[in-house]
Amino acid sequence: MDKLWTDFANSLWHDWRGDGHSEDQLLKPDWQAAFLESWKLRAPLPVPAEEMDTLLRFREHLRDFAIQLSMDATVTREMMNTVNEKLVQSAAVREIRQEDETIRIVWLPQEHTWKSVLSEVAASFAQTLADGQGNRIRICENNNCKWVFLDDTRNRSKRFCDDKMCGNLMKVRRFRERKRSESK
Ligand SMILES: [Zn+2]
Repeated sequence: MDKLWTDFANSLWHDWRGDGHSEDQLLKPDWQAAFLESWKLRAPLPVPAEEMDTLLRFREHLRDFAIQLSMDATVTREMMNTVNEKLVQSAAVREIRQEDETIRIVWLPQEHTWKSVLSEVAASFAQTLADGQGNRIRICENNNCKWVFLDDTRNRSKRFCDDKMCGNLMKVRRFRERKRSESK
């Protein structure tokens, strides 16, 4: 279950197969464009150089908060202050909309800047906390992957971003380690 804020946090991509390779997608204009497109946001492309630092710093905060929350689901004053700093930086108005059969209220940013995009990202994180889902935030237990996700299983037992990929890889690794220790 992707959220705007997890998508943003996961722009720092780690090779889950484990050769230590990582790629910062946020720096790539193609990723920036696809990200805006998939969340129906607008901002200048590519990200202006002077704004990149702010984006990277906020992503670092989000990843730190996700790590903290995955270990101890306590929402801290620091988390709220950091989110509030971003929320006040952009004005948005409400609109009622019908999408398919669903009536929804959406917030429309009044500016199309990266500042307003960060504000939307912050709002998405805030919504996760406000929905009481802070205790569902996980970091994939494959240390090479570190993907941020929300555990949507009923018994909150999801340990890997994807059981077929990271889950299987870890299973194979554990199996090999066991074999190795048995043959010693
Ligand atoms: Zn993973």
